[in-house]
Amino acid sequence: MENENPSPVSASGALLKGKPLQVVLAGEEHQFELDEGILETVLLDPSIQDKKVAIVSVAGAFRKGKSFLLDFFLRYLNAKGHPDWLGDDESPLEGFSWRGGSERETTGILLWSEPFICKLPSGEEVVVLLMDTQGAFDSESTVKDCATVFALSTMISSVQVFNLTQNIQEDDLQHLQLFTEYGRLALEDNDNVSKPFQCLEFLVRDWSFPYEAQYGAAGGRKILERRLQVSDKQHSELQQIRRHIRSCFKDIGCFLMPHPGLRVATNPHFDGRLKDIESDFKEQLKVLVPLLLDESNLVVKEINGVEITCRELVEYFKATAEANNLAAVSNAKNLYQKEMETVCGGDQPYLHPDALEREHNRYMEKALEMFRVARKMGGPQFSQPFLEQLQTEIEQLYENFQKHNEGKNIFSSARTPAVLFTVLAI
Ligand code: GDP
Ligand code: MG
Repeated sequence: MENENPSPVSASGALLKGKPLQVVLAGEEHQFELDEGILETVLLDPSIQDKKVAIVSVAGAFRKGKSFLLDFFLRYLNAKGHPDWLGDDESPLEGFSWRGGSERETTGILLWSEPFICKLPSGEEVVVLLMDTQGAFDSESTVKDCATVFALSTMISSVQVFNLTQNIQEDDLQHLQLFTEYGRLALEDNDNVSKPFQCLEFLVRDWSFPYEAQYGAAGGRKILERRLQVSDKQHSELQQIRRHIRSCFKDIGCFLMPHPGLRVATNPHFDGRLKDIESDFKEQLKVLVPLLLDESNLVVKEINGVEITCRELVEYFKATAEANNLAAVSNAKNLYQKEMETVCGGDQPYLHPDALEREHNRYMEKALEMFRVARKMGGPQFSQPFLEQLQTEIEQLYENFQKHNEGKNIFSSARTPAVLFTVLAI
């Protein structure tokens, strides 16, 4: 999915130096690979590793214009404050690859390889990273499958742009609830009294009711207020979703984008040149992109209220993957313990050791299977030590169950000399 030409010339004439890199890739069944090598190559570059970082992610379903939009982000960042950043009429749009109707779509996270160094109003330099996150949203199971990927991108970014078409629907809110719930679980240890995530921007593409709510941020606010409103008339579940979303993000916005025109949407030969794009769309791009990326609007990534550097981001990325595996270990171990309690817990009668072993094997298999299919980060290699940890912990539990079981065996305890003496003494 990479660009064939790794160094396209941007509209402003400057070279686009980067290319999209796949940092998280959905593998076979429920597995997600985090490419630590790529992460380290980009983020541990000596020129940036100790600088603070702002991460803007665009997330959502396939074929909704995310990469197309991200390429305008690239133009903006590449133009370094030049007012004509949008470019000339004839240059094709390059960067994250877009269109390519027949390409196989991959669920995962792409990171633009070139970090952009910008200056905050305070004069401090900050690194801006762009992320493209996509997955399938067409059924409940595909949504659940990619929830880890979306949760991760929400945790990693300082600004999450949730790319939608036409409107903010109840479905979109439900998906968001699921993604943030995963994220909250992974962040649970950090005694979160404050909100776990920073900025969420709903981006509605092809908004077609400008007379109801005008394009841009003001119209977006109006729609957002309406959609996130909690009222007694709503079913309690709908109220709950809305409260949950508000409680997760420090800042929530919404932006309404007009339709870019039929050439963009349907012409197979369209290559992104401005002359083929409706002027309304271009006008709003000029508002939206600086709103997210102007130096005065950048949001530095914070963890528990502390701003972090690129180097710390690498650790955070890895730790997040680890938290995921630890949660899977603990769930699987709980399953084993609960099941064993039902067959040989305190209230249960003594079991023959062979029968106990059979139960042990059965529930250990069940627990290990539960761990294997759990949606977790890092791929099989990363998960191996966690699997071993689970096995050790289950063996320990089994030993305890065995001892406990023996304690219930009056015949075997009667055979020990100490007990014999006591019995004789009486
Ligand atoms: P992604 O899969 O979300 O990254 O989508 P792409 O950026 O690859 O775009 C998919 C298709 O949608 C391309 O043919 C674009 O020309 C088209 N497109 C881009 N932006 C918009 C938009 O705002 N509205 C519509 N209707 N189509 C768009
Ligand atoms: Mg794309």
